[in-house]
Amino acid sequence: MKKAVVTGAGGFIAGHLVVELLKRGYQVRAVDKKPLNQWYQISEKADNLVLDLNIKENCYSAVNGYNEVFNLAADMGGMGFIETHKADCMLSVLINTHMLMASRDCGIERFFYSSSACVYNGDKQTDPDNPGLKESDAYPALAEDGYGWEKLFSERMCRHFTEDYGIITRVARYHNVYGPFGTYDGGREKAPAAICRKVIDKELNGANEIVIWGDGDQTRSFMYIDDCIKGTIDIMYSNIEEPINLGSSEMVSINKLVDTVEGIAGYKLTRKYDLNAPKGVRGRNSDNTLIRKYLGWEPSTPLKDGLKKTYTWIRGQMIRDKGIREKNAGKA
Ligand code: NAD
Repeated sequence: MKKAVVTGAGGFIAGHLVVELLKRGYQVRAVDKKPLNQWYQISEKADNLVLDLNIKENCYSAVNGYNEVFNLAADMGGMGFIETHKADCMLSVLINTHMLMASRDCGIERFFYSSSACVYNGDKQTDPDNPGLKESDAYPALAEDGYGWEKLFSERMCRHFTEDYGIITRVARYHNVYGPFGTYDGGREKAPAAICRKVIDKELNGANEIVIWGDGDQTRSFMYIDDCIKGTIDIMYSNIEEPINLGSSEMVSINKLVDTVEGIAGYKLTRKYDLNAPKGVRGRNSDNTLIRKYLGWEPSTPLKDGLKKTYTWIRGQMIRDKGIREKNAGKA
C-alpha cells in the first residue's frame, strides 16, 4: 500500500487530493496548521494532524513512517493577499525547506511540490493577448514579488535535493485553480470565487453593483480542481524532472469571467471598475506543449462547466451562512 503525506490538507487543493488518494487505496496522513474545525474537508480515513510545518521538528513528525510527500502547504491567497503579505508569503520557504530536510532524513522516496504561474517573468505578461507561458519563461527571473520568488527559490531547492541527496522531486506550476471547498471570502479568495460571491450577493442581499479589480480586460486561465488533482498525481509518478505547467489554456478576460458567472446566475449587475485595486499581471496563460508531450493530456474542463459547480457550492455556503447570521441576530 502506498503511504503518502499531504500537507496543506485543511486547504482547498490538498483537501481534494486527500479524498482522491484515499479513493485510490492510499494510506494518507493529512497535515495542516489550522484547527480541524476550519478544514474545508476532513476525511475520517486519513490520519489528520494539526502541525505548524514552519517548525522543523514538526516536519519530522509529519513524514515519520511514510514514503511519499505531496507538499502543498503555503501561506497564500489571491492578488489581494499576496500583494499585501509579501513577507508572510516568503516565509513559506520554511515549510518546503524543512519538509525536504525531514524527507531526506526519514527516507521519503518521492516528493511533490506545488509551485505557481507566479514564478514567470513579469515582462512576459504585459499583453492581455498572452500567447501562453512556456516553462523556460521563468528565466531570466522576474517573478511576482514575494510569493513568486519564494516559489521559484523552493523549486530550485527541490532540484538541488534531487542532485545532492537523490530524493525524487516533482514540481508542478499551477495556474489559477478553482472549484468547490475553497476560499470565497475573507481576503484570500481568488477571482472566480470572489466573482461568484459578488454575483450571489445580488440574489441574497439585493446588491446591484459588482466591483471589478482593474479594467476587467486583464486575462487569465482557470483550471478546474478535478484537472488539478489528476495532473498532480500524474506528474508525481511521471519521469518529468523539471518544473512543468499545470493549467488550462482557455484564456479569458476578467470581464468574460463575470459574463460567464452572470450567465449561470441568470441576471446581470452594474459593473464598477476599481483601477486602484490589486490586479496582478496584464495577461497570463498556460502553454501546454510540454504536458501534452509527457502525459498526452492537459487540463480541459470547460470554464463554464467548472464555474457552474463552483457557483452552486458557494451559493449553498452563503445561504447557510446567512441563515446562521439571521438566527444569531434573532437570539440577540
Ligand atoms: P489554501 O490556502 O486553500 O491551502 C493551503 C493550506 O496550507 C492552508 O490550509 C493553510 O492553513 C496551510 N498552511 C499554511 N501554512 C502552514 C504551515 N506553516 N503549516 C501547515 N500548514 C500550513 O491554498 P490552495 O489554493 O489549496 O493552494 C495549495 C498550494 O497550491 C499552495 O502551495 C499554493 O501556493 C499552490 N498554488 C495554488 C494556486 C491556486 O490557484 N489555488 C495557484 C498556484 C499555486
